[in-house]
Amino acid sequence: CDHVFDYPTTPEEMNWNTLYPPSKLTNSRRVEFLDIGCGYGGLLVALSKMFPEKLMLGLEIRVKVQQYVQYRIEGLRKMYTGHYENIAVLRTNAMKYLPNYFHEGQIEKMFFLYPDPHFKKSKYKWRIINDTLLSEYAYILAKNAKVYTVTDVKDLHDWMVQHFTDHQLFEPVSDAEMESDPVSKIILDSTEEGKKVTRNKGDNFTCYLFSAKYIR
Ligand code: SAM
Repeated sequence: CDHVFDYPTTPEEMNWNTLYPPSKLTNSRRVEFLDIGCGYGGLLVALSKMFPEKLMLGLEIRVKVQQYVQYRIEGLRKMYTGHYENIAVLRTNAMKYLPNYFHEGQIEKMFFLYPDPHFKKSKYKWRIINDTLLSEYAYILAKNAKVYTVTDVKDLHDWMVQHFTDHQLFEPVSDAEMESDPVSKIILDSTEEGKKVTRNKGDNFTCYLFSAKYIR
């Protein structure tokens, strides 16, 4: 059922061996990249080879979609032995349970690619970027961690930029830094939603922000 969640009380309680096959990498590293609302998992698959030394996790709230991504990753692991062991998917509500899974300062990159726009004003409270949640995201982000956002909805783009800009713990990344970031080259067309927007010649609004101000 889409509304029932099993989750650990604290990050220490989480058994990551259920998601990643035991290996030198998984024994020594923690999850450092998070794809929030990962959909069908295209970003994880693209990032897996780019960052073989990083553990990455997609979070997805829909049961069927999470299962699809799990089968996709299992299939890739079977087909390419020894590869795709650094990516996994977890079914959870990212608006509620992040501190149950991740320690303070753990995450280096966080992705919000084509988040649900919730167009109506009365639904804005469901937007995954809001002031309260940004504080929670900042808590699990490492110093200088980067947050990537992409949407094809101008109003949502403005909303996200506004919220990050207004928040004390985030500041924008310079254009030069954005351009030299290899990840920026792939985030527009590695996910299923991104491919659809590119196919339909839609707009893409990208911005990157980071938590440099977050000093512990
Ligand atoms: N990022 C993917 C892409 O670019 O193809 C998917 C984009 S899709 C428009 C938004 C996804 O976020 C959906 O798969 C939805 O189920 C998921 N989602 C929405 N709210 C969520 C939440 N609170 N926690 C986790 N996932 C969520």
